[in-house]
Amino acid sequence: MLTIAVSKGRIFEEAMPLLAAAGISPLEDPEKSRKLVLPTSRDDVQLVIIRATDVPTFVEYGAADLGIAGKDVLVEHGADGLYEPMDLGIAACRLMTAAKVGAPPVSGRIRVATKYVKTAQSYFAGLGVQAEIIKLYGSMELAPLVGLADYIVDLVDTGNTLKANGLEPKALIMQITSRLVVNKAAMKIKHQAIKNLLAQLETAINSR
Ligand code: AMP
Repeated sequence: MLTIAVSKGRIFEEAMPLLAAAGISPLEDPEKSRKLVLPTSRDDVQLVIIRATDVPTFVEYGAADLGIAGKDVLVEHGADGLYEPMDLGIAACRLMTAAKVGAPPVSGRIRVATKYVKTAQSYFAGLGVQAEIIKLYGSMELAPLVGLADYIVDLVDTGNTLKANGLEPKALIMQITSRLVVNKAAMKIKHQAIKNLLAQLETAINSR
């Protein structure tokens, strides 16, 4: 049995056509079902539906053999315990800094609200900028509006969320796409099954 960890929402929607090309379709819609383990059209493959930020943890500890996670989540988690053999090229967006429209540059120590604490810390350290990072779990866009932070670090796709909240993108930290990750032990023990799946996914990606 191969267990694949994936989160609901955009990554799931964009990953499904790729998995379908490998003959893997969930037997229930995770948006409608309350089940966390979904059987698929393949007897030897099941999906576990978890939060995006938990995907690297499940795969690292072998609770899932494979997972699909955004590069943002993998960088923040630290990908030492995982193989990352394939860029699926899905759920593309950018990790950016943003601030209030027209806000003057802040001199000295800045305050940054984000859920990407480690990534933001190393980004600003790399620039030699002193930054106090404030961890939030959501609604980052609110922080500059209420004086909690000078900047946010968040994912930007169309930019509409920033715009709707009077914010503007500033600097690009990294381009983001979702990656396939594999548990290191599973890569050895279930080598043939994983190798076959990787080959099928690669064919699906190349024929898009
Ligand atoms: P947008 O308004 O299109 O710029 O989208 C920004 C909002 O969508 C932010 O709240 C992001 O956290 C979220 N978002 C954008 N792209 C992604 C993605 N690929 N994966 C997860 N969340 C995303």
